[in-house]
Amino acid sequence: MSRIYLSPPHMSGLEQQYVQEVFASNWIAPLGPQVDAFEQEFCAVTGARYALALSSGTAALHLALRLSGVGPGDEVLVSTLTFSASVNPIIYEGGYPTFIDSEPVSWNMDPDLLAETLAARARAGKLPKSVVVVHLYGQSANLEPIMAACQRYDVPLIEDAAEALGATYQGKTPGTFGKAGIFSFNGNKIITTSGGGMLVSDDKAFIDHARKLATQARDPAPHYEHSEIGYNYRLSNILAGVGRGQLAVLEQRVQARRANFAYYAAMLGDLPGICFMPEAPWGRHTRWLTVLTIDPAQFGADREAVRLALEAENIEARPVWKPMHLQPVFAAYEAVGGQVAASLFRDGLCLPSGSSLTDADRARVVQIVRALHEKGT
Ligand SMILES: *Cc1c(COP(=O)(O)O)cnc(C)c1O
Repeated sequence: MSRIYLSPPHMSGLEQQYVQEVFASNWIAPLGPQVDAFEQEFCAVTGARYALALSSGTAALHLALRLSGVGPGDEVLVSTLTFSASVNPIIYEGGYPTFIDSEPVSWNMDPDLLAETLAARARAGKLPKSVVVVHLYGQSANLEPIMAACQRYDVPLIEDAAEALGATYQGKTPGTFGKAGIFSFNGNKIITTSGGGMLVSDDKAFIDHARKLATQARDPAPHYEHSEIGYNYRLSNILAGVGRGQLAVLEQRVQARRANFAYYAAMLGDLPGICFMPEAPWGRHTRWLTVLTIDPAQFGADREAVRLALEAENIEARPVWKPMHLQPVFAAYEAVGGQVAASLFRDGLCLPSGSSLTDADRARVVQIVRALHEKGT
């Protein structure tokens, strides 16, 4: 049986056309016309005002944090249920994270805990430098109360929308609400350039400065002149061509992922102890990944047994992100709550969710999960 992957790349065919143009023009470099077009088209699709194409989502978050003034000794409040890339750039800048728990309705940052933490910091006379909210697995966090809390204390909000391209919050794209938003085009995301990212903001000066920092911080001069430390973070013109071909089919990719979810929900939803990640009332979940929790007492097997049963049949499934406050590398930092995220990690499993998944692939997954339940009870 051929391997079923969690979330493999899915090319549209258009990518090669754009890459062909790159080769025909010999513009094999970072920057170039494909990069400019990719940024413009990304703004058109997401409603972002300004966009900067970068080598990764992590690079985008690093620039967003640095430009928000995060430096040595500064606190940043961040969702605990996420991938480590949401947190690492805080450390790059010498800051430190404080982890905020999830709320059950979206699995994303709990707005009440955020507001309480900001209030406590204000009382203590030292506010965090920034808040990083993560939009997990294709679903937006509850941005309205999160933005209200940030505005109240004048703390800039950065949105990690790496997993949420194609989602909506009250009809708009998460990632375009805060001071800055970041997206990822890593190989497993809903669209991919093999590797890449995007930084967006409504603030032109912010994006202009990020563009300069990402290009080795060259000052405008005919020779090489530098007045600050920069990075080599720009996206290759070749990869931007891939990105344009992918962006053109984003909506189809969302529909395919949502169809995967609908199938799994219909075929597994009746099993005792199985609960799917909810779709919160404020917007559209892309179902980038179909994620469910398994109550072992009711189901008859725990999520690890299900994962291993799938793996034995050459099917890749993954546990939900292990929360940052439980990671050895971040053990020294404070967590506000953490029980919700910890239980989602304990019971949560991501099923194969690629937009190229076939009916036969999905049926194989369902059959193995159902068989394990029947064996267990
Ligand atoms: C993938 C991901 C990132 C990092 O993006 P890269 O392009 O791989 O650097 C950041 N945050 C979250 C939540 C992600 O899933």
